[in-house]
Amino acid sequence: MTTAYKHEPFTDFNNEENRNLFQQALANVNEMMGKEYPLVINGERVTTDNTIVSYNPANKEEVVGKVSKANKEHAEQAIQAASEAFEDWRYWNPEERANILFRAAAIIRRKKHDFSALLVKEGGKPWKEADADTAEAIDFLEYYGRQMIELAKGKPINSREGEINQYVYTPTGVTVVISPWNFLFAIMAGTVAAPIVTGNTVVLKPASTTPVIAALFVEVLEEAGLPKGVVNFVPGSGAEVGDYLVDHPKTSLITFTGSREVGTRIFERAAKVQEGQMHLKRVIVEMGGKDTVVVDKDCDIELAAQSIFTSAFGFSGQKCSAGSRAVVHEDVYDQVLQRVVEITEEKIVGNPENADTYMGPVIDQASFDKIMDYVRVGNEEGRLMTGGKGDDSKGYFIQPTIFADLDPKSRLMQEEIFGPVVGFSKAADFDEALKIANNTEYGLTGAVITRNRKHIERAKQEFHVGNLYFNRNCTGAIVGYHPFGGFKMSGTDSKAGGPDYLALHMQAKTISEML
Ligand code: GLU
Repeated sequence: MTTAYKHEPFTDFNNEENRNLFQQALANVNEMMGKEYPLVINGERVTTDNTIVSYNPANKEEVVGKVSKANKEHAEQAIQAASEAFEDWRYWNPEERANILFRAAAIIRRKKHDFSALLVKEGGKPWKEADADTAEAIDFLEYYGRQMIELAKGKPINSREGEINQYVYTPTGVTVVISPWNFLFAIMAGTVAAPIVTGNTVVLKPASTTPVIAALFVEVLEEAGLPKGVVNFVPGSGAEVGDYLVDHPKTSLITFTGSREVGTRIFERAAKVQEGQMHLKRVIVEMGGKDTVVVDKDCDIELAAQSIFTSAFGFSGQKCSAGSRAVVHEDVYDQVLQRVVEITEEKIVGNPENADTYMGPVIDQASFDKIMDYVRVGNEEGRLMTGGKGDDSKGYFIQPTIFADLDPKSRLMQEEIFGPVVGFSKAADFDEALKIANNTEYGLTGAVITRNRKHIERAKQEFHVGNLYFNRNCTGAIVGYHPFGGFKMSGTDSKAGGPDYLALHMQAKTISEML
């Protein structure tokens, strides 16, 4: 019997003991910097000459680790291993599979700060964000384990006299998991845990900027008792290994989190039936967002400002849920804007290893350059209120940046920036605010700050996003509490961490037996 699901609590870093423990974890992780990690194919370690080097984005000179780099042959071997392992794994008792997830969660929990400290190094995450990422990884394991135990019971259907009907879920096969760098632990672990607990086998290609945490997670799964071949680890380039895995005729499911460009490419390629392919592929894609915090006239100004600030700048705005646009009623516009600028200017930007840092670097040079280009666009399209500068001499640091008075159709208000930049537009009334909020091609998250009950009810109907929040920020969905996924070009709305997610990895089978 498992206990009821409860999300993993966040660490209180105001507590001195916790701060000391985290400092110790950072010291532990320092000892493992620069280590090498092999591929894992059918349980075998494979070391290649070519490697992917993971750097600390706050200190470009620090090598977090070197991970073997797979080529097409490795990808082929990984698919074959996954395909063979599937023939046994698919028939395991679902509860035994769930127990592996629970054991993995326990292993991570025992060394929780060490994992989070690695996320500080590899992802450039400030303590709080790193701690939340590890907590979410644990949550996915705990939640999906329990969900599987439920799903294994099947769903009730009717039987006529003289027959017994059953409706059960069976796994689909080899799952290709292409995971992102922003939730380098949580989303990577969640998108691996779901297919394996449902009886599928996995070929994991993590983001090339953050492969070390993925290598460690594969070790955790092995320690928890996962049999060989069930998860195969093949970091590599998208063009070579990514496409090969997606196109492979034995691939049955692809789960991807990342850019819209890559997500739509995967969606298209997966639709093509390859020679020898006996099934249609399924695709779960979670792509971008251009998420809005709407502020109504009748609202708590401080709450509005804090919500905009947190949504925009948590983890340097590198969340697809980030509130990178604020649409504010004209009666409170100046006040809210001013307060967000004040809060922003109080915060510390710098090395995420320091306990007091609110915002660390962005992930790499390409992101830095892209975001700084948007800052230039913002300077043309709007009024710079604060920030606007970047420094990539040591790491990829960009000041939290606010642009005001933007046209709702401007590039800054339409395109995903994935960095610490927020744009403000003014709305004449709530109708206009809602219209602006819906005017992008994305539909992932949104927040409305209001005291007006009628407006809350209207937004519930008319604000077209997958995750809608009231009187709070639009980031930070919790597994099991806020199933996560978006509409429109944000993806397949697959709702990670929700009650329907596991079924997407399975096929329902109807069985009817005559008595
Ligand atoms: N689930 C995260 C949140 O609610 C965002 C995930 C992502 O950025 O991919 O903030």
